[in-house]
Amino acid sequence: MKGNSTGRPERKDALIKKLAQENRLLKGLLELSKAAHSTLNSQEILTLALHQIAETVQVHRCSVLKLGKGKDVGYVIATHEDPAIHNLRIDLRKYPEILKAVDTNQAVVVQDTSHDPLMAGVRDALAPTRIRSIIVVPVILRGLVIGAILLKSVRTQKTFTRSELGFLQVAAGILAGALYNALVHETIQRENSQLETLAITDGLTEIYNHRYFYIRLDEEFNRASRYHQPLSCMMVDIDGFKTVNDLLGHRRGDEILKKLAALMRSTIRKTDLLARYGGEEFAIILPQTDEKGALLQAERIRMAIKRAKFAGLGKKVSLTLSLGVATYPKHAQRSPDELVTKADRALYEAKRRGTDQVASFSAFRKKGDDGRLYG
Ligand code: GH3
Ligand code: MG
Ligand code: MG
Repeated sequence: MKGNSTGRPERKDALIKKLAQENRLLKGLLELSKAAHSTLNSQEILTLALHQIAETVQVHRCSVLKLGKGKDVGYVIATHEDPAIHNLRIDLRKYPEILKAVDTNQAVVVQDTSHDPLMAGVRDALAPTRIRSIIVVPVILRGLVIGAILLKSVRTQKTFTRSELGFLQVAAGILAGALYNALVHETIQRENSQLETLAITDGLTEIYNHRYFYIRLDEEFNRASRYHQPLSCMMVDIDGFKTVNDLLGHRRGDEILKKLAALMRSTIRKTDLLARYGGEEFAIILPQTDEKGALLQAERIRMAIKRAKFAGLGKKVSLTLSLGVATYPKHAQRSPDELVTKADRALYEAKRRGTDQVASFSAFRKKGDDGRLYG
């Protein structure tokens, strides 16, 4: 027997259906809240949230956009249907429903795009997409609209329900809070990493500083001794740099130091570490490099700088370097400091022999085991 006479079974069915839908929406909200707070990566939050929203409300397109600086500019920062879309600029004048949501701080529901007067100006453009219903929910943070969640559906029979709209409004609130936390976290992380970079960088040449050189030398020395691998250290000093300063002034001298550091950096291997040791002296750590390899590298650097032209020095004048090399375990076994001291002695030997050359600590040792220099 059908219940048409009383209508009660239909009402019951409708009620059960409604409760089931509300239950699904509540579950969706719970999952969304969990997902949004499971990470502090803003892009991950968006991806997880959109996935949850699209699953709960069952729509064909679901995206989040943020507002640009200009009134009519927005950026799609994530979409459910295409994970590759990120920061896609859109002209909001083509989206009257978004403009209205932003202007009024209220959700906008377009149940049927082919009849809603709001869509009159864009109806022709929208026709081939088969999009029928659209919901735009503004994402509001501390009273300011920062973006919007946009849902589009091609379904014709069933339009968005009141409960679905309620779900989306709560979802937008959760998303706004989670995104805010993630953005604050990401800003702090970025600033911390900038501070860390500053702390290990030489301000003038932008290569590593003296402090970081020793941190890395300690690490490389430990690694070399643990794995029985060679490690070389190179000390580099510009020849007669005082004269360059006297001739061109300190400022030009600074520019030359900067260019020279950049040239050296482009000459060494990626695995080597170049640092400004002080003034016009540089130090290079060469992991897994023996004496022969380090001497070859030193010679390459010497030639690269000798051939380079520096502003103010004139075409015929070369800047030359003296370079000293010492290697673990051949010349120093005890400590990183011993390796640096011996590379410095080798540099001294290169200067003593007439500058513009490379010397190994082996050359220095030939002068006498007591470490004194002769001649
Ligand atoms: P040598 O061949 O014996 O190395 O001679 P030199 O003139 O290079 O060596 P010295 O140690 O006598 O002088 C180093 C000069 O480097 C002194 C200083 O004018 C210059 N210098 C050191 N640091 C800087 C800097 O940051 N900027 C500039 N422009 N010059 C610097
Ligand atoms: Mg010097
Ligand atoms: Mg010098």
